[in-house]
Amino acid sequence: METLLPLKCWTRAQQHGFRIPQWTDPLAHEKFPGTNCTVLSGQKLSEEFRNQAKELAKSNSIKPNLTVLLVGEDPASRVYVSNKTKTFAQAGFGSHLIEVPAAEATTELLQKWVHKLNADPSVHGILVQLPLPKHVDAAAVLGAIVLEKDVDGFLPGNVGLLATGQFTGTLSCTPFGVMALLAAYNVSLAGKNAVVIGRSNIVGKPMGLMLLSEDCTVTYAHSRTQNLQGVCAQADILVAAAGQALLVKPEFVKPGAVLIDVGMHRDSAGKLCGDIDPDCFSKASFASPVPKGVGPMTIAMLLVNTCINAWGQGKAQ
Ligand code: NAP
Repeated sequence: METLLPLKCWTRAQQHGFRIPQWTDPLAHEKFPGTNCTVLSGQKLSEEFRNQAKELAKSNSIKPNLTVLLVGEDPASRVYVSNKTKTFAQAGFGSHLIEVPAAEATTELLQKWVHKLNADPSVHGILVQLPLPKHVDAAAVLGAIVLEKDVDGFLPGNVGLLATGQFTGTLSCTPFGVMALLAAYNVSLAGKNAVVIGRSNIVGKPMGLMLLSEDCTVTYAHSRTQNLQGVCAQADILVAAAGQALLVKPEFVKPGAVLIDVGMHRDSAGKLCGDIDPDCFSKASFASPVPKGVGPMTIAMLLVNTCINAWGQGKAQ
C-alpha cells in the first residue's frame, strides 16, 4: 500500500515512479528486544527502493550510471564507496570508480575530472567522496559539478530549491532517506516538535528543512547549544547527527519520542554504535537502529537520485 500522505520532498521521486510503501500494521512491526519501541528498518525500506529502481529501469531506456571520485586512501571512505558501488551493481546499474592518490590531488586536477564527467552523457551522477584532503578546496571541486549531475544534493542550487520550498531539485541523501523512513512507518509529523542535533550542510540543515516542510516545529542543536538535555527532552522527533558516540542518553528522551540515529561509530569493543545510547529505546515509540537504519537509506536515496537524474534527461524534472 502506498503512503496516504505523500511527503512534499517526495514529489519528484514520485513523478519518476518511486512509491513509499506504508507499513501501518503495528502488530507486524519488529520491536527492539524487551521494549515496545518499533524498529525503523532502513534495511527493509532500502531493499524496497532497490527493487522499485530495478523494476522502473525495465520501462526506461536509460540505465542509470554513477561515477565516484575517490581521493586518497582513507579506509572509512573506501568502505562507504564500496557499499555504494555494490548497491548499484546489485540493481544492475552502472558504477565507475576514479581513484586519485592524495599526493597527486590538487583542486585544479579534481575540477578537470569533474568537467570531463560533466561533459560525458553516459554519466548521470557524479559523487565526490568526502572528506577530501585538507590541501584541496572541497567547495571548489563540488561547485564544478553541474546541477543535473549532483546526486548528493549538496550544490547551493539544489539546497536553495529545498530552502525555498521547491521540491524540483536533488535532495541530500541522508535526510531524504530519513523522511522516507518516517513516512513508511506512518509517523505523524505536522505540529510535532522536532530537534535536530547537528547543523552540517549535508545532514543537519537539510534535515531540519525537510521536517519543516512537513510542518514540524524545528529546533537545531549544535556544539554551542546550552542545556542540550533539556532541549532534546522537548522533542517528539529527535534526530541525532552530531557524530558523537552515545551522546543521547535516556534522560534526553521524552516518553514516546521518535528517535533517528544518523551517527556511525565503533565502540571500544569494535561494535558499531550510533549517537544514541540503546538504553533510550525503552522510552521511545520508534527508533532507527545502528547499523541497518539510516545508513542503508542513504545509499538507497543515492540510487533513487541517480535514477531521477538519468530518467529525467529530456523530460521535465
Ligand atoms: P559534522 O559536519 O561533523 O557535523 C556535526 C554537527 O554536530 C555540527 O553541527 C556540530 O556542531 C554538532 N555537534 C558536535 N558535537 C556536538 C555535541 N556534543 N552536542 C551538540 N552538537 C554537537 O558531521 P555530519 O557530516 O553532519 O555527520 C554527522 C554524523 O553522521 C557523523 O557521525 C557521520 O559519520 C554520520 N553520517 C552518517 C551517514 C549515514 O549514512 N548513516 C551519512 C552522513 C553522516 P557545530 O556546528 O557547532 O560544530
